[in-house]
Amino acid sequence: CTVLALESSCDDTAAAVLRRTAGGATEILSSVVRGQAELHAGFGGVVPEIAARAHAETLDHCVEQALEASGLGLDDIDAIAVTAGPGLIGGVVSGVMCAKGLAAATGKPLYGINHLAGHALTPGLTDAVPYPWLMLLVSGGHCQFLLVRGPEDFTRLGGTIDDAPGEAFDKIARLLGLPQPGGPAVEAAAKDGDPARFAFPRPLLDRAGCDMSFSGLKTAVLRTRDALIADQGGLTEQDRCDLCAGFQAAVADVFAEKTRRAMDNYPKVADQTPVICVAGGVAANITIRRALETVSQEFGARFIAPPLALCTDNAAMIGYAALEQMAISGPSGMSLPARPRWPLDQTSPAMLGSGK
Ligand code: ATP
Ligand code: FE
Repeated sequence: CTVLALESSCDDTAAAVLRRTAGGATEILSSVVRGQAELHAGFGGVVPEIAARAHAETLDHCVEQALEASGLGLDDIDAIAVTAGPGLIGGVVSGVMCAKGLAAATGKPLYGINHLAGHALTPGLTDAVPYPWLMLLVSGGHCQFLLVRGPEDFTRLGGTIDDAPGEAFDKIARLLGLPQPGGPAVEAAAKDGDPARFAFPRPLLDRAGCDMSFSGLKTAVLRTRDALIADQGGLTEQDRCDLCAGFQAAVADVFAEKTRRAMDNYPKVADQTPVICVAGGVAANITIRRALETVSQEFGARFIAPPLALCTDNAAMIGYAALEQMAISGPSGMSLPARPRWPLDQTSPAMLGSGK
């Protein structure tokens, strides 16, 4: 089965072609991602109207490029997959309309895929792991622990009650005058910093369960910054590095401890090694990866962090989710709606079609 997948739910326009062989292996034949960073630069975030227009203008070209790079034509495609939510509604609508056009033109079935399901299923694309696995999804817009038992079987164990960690990294960078996106800039500065100089809080560790909070941590960094400026009249390079290192260490500690709590809910499967995964843009962070690797070792679990290109928004994960879900559910049909909100526990395309 060969699937053409589209993704346009945030600020990346993406298309990919994937093939599942008779033996069940999945190959990524092509994966094209076009970012919009330069369009939103200067606005301090993604501007929904600009994003929607850029998606509408770029999708066709991404599809062409993905087909060309795969060496296949539209006639060779067996199914069309598209992110049908959650996300910025303009972008999701652009993707769904483009996919409907392709499905109508080719007569091939259309699968509406949940963007978060795409992220949550990614470890299956890169590693031959059996379900279940624990997924920590951490990106610019999301932060949650998911127990993934199957292609449409997700249990949300907890998540942030305020900011997403990527957002927090971006805000910290802004506070310190570092460039955007903040994650890589904060990580680079933290390399030369002392994580112990400032005692930043580890929010919600005193509370049971795996909910997290990053807003108070962000405020603590802001207060410390302001106190330094008041004392010294400004920040030294070393202050910046130490603030970044302290913040990053706090985030890594919270993830590690909450992962331990999440593992309390992990179903034991006889003769199967538990699997802990991380995905989303924040998963690029080496300190965070190391912290999660250490926790995985404590549980005798295998640790999987997909390559960065598959951790951030891409269409290959959407194609993979479609290939996985096809075995369970039928196509969505041409009445597929674009959903700005779409809880992961309602991922079945059949449910989408029925308008639930
Ligand atoms: P979505 O939540 O819909 O996936 P998104 O496009 O914001 O939205 P990603 O592209 O997955 O999410 O991730 C981007 C986020 O990841 C940014 O907030 C960025 O700062 C953060 N990030 C990227 N690299 C790092 C890093 N090395 N350390 C920490 N955070 C990082
Ligand atoms: Fe995403």
